[in-house]
Amino acid sequence: MNDCVFCRIVAGEAPAAKVYEDDALCAFLDIRPIARGHTLVIPKRHAAELEDLDAELGARIFRAGHRLALAIRRSRLAADGANLVLNDGRAAFQTVPHVHLHVIPRRHGDTLRFAKGFLLRRPHDPVATAAAIRDGIAALDNKGASPEKENEG
Ligand code: 5GP
Ligand code: ZN
Repeated sequence: MNDCVFCRIVAGEAPAAKVYEDDALCAFLDIRPIARGHTLVIPKRHAAELEDLDAELGARIFRAGHRLALAIRRSRLAADGANLVLNDGRAAFQTVPHVHLHVIPRRHGDTLRFAKGFLLRRPHDPVATAAAIRDGIAALDNKGASPEKENEG
């Protein structure tokens, strides 16, 4: 095992609020979220940068980010949109050298809240937030009624 914190999360050796997992990918809440529901999608197999990542796996990471963005809209978090961002390399301010796609929920008119979140990066009840996103994924899979929406506190 290497000393990569995201590899340790994949291995269950470091804690994380997981929202999605399959054979190749894992998604969990960012420990210092910009907004409530800020999620990271990573490949389970270590790849430091896009240079090291299989292109097909890159496509799967984006597909998962796409689904999460839809799920967050349908979840109690009631997002109106999302920023999907991937910082590739230290030159692009990548701070954790294991490829990750940020999915950051957005709401109409949230510019000030977003700017504050960018500065403070404080967690918002990760257990309930992860559960809300998992419910959003289930709503997406069922194409049924969306969970009741809540206002962000
Ligand atoms: P980057 O700047 O590399 O694109 O973003 C790395 C992200 O990983 C940051 O938003 C940071 O808060 C998050 N992060 C760093 N260490 C941990 C950790 O141990 N657990 C979780 N869940 N997120 C982390
Ligand atoms: Zn790693």
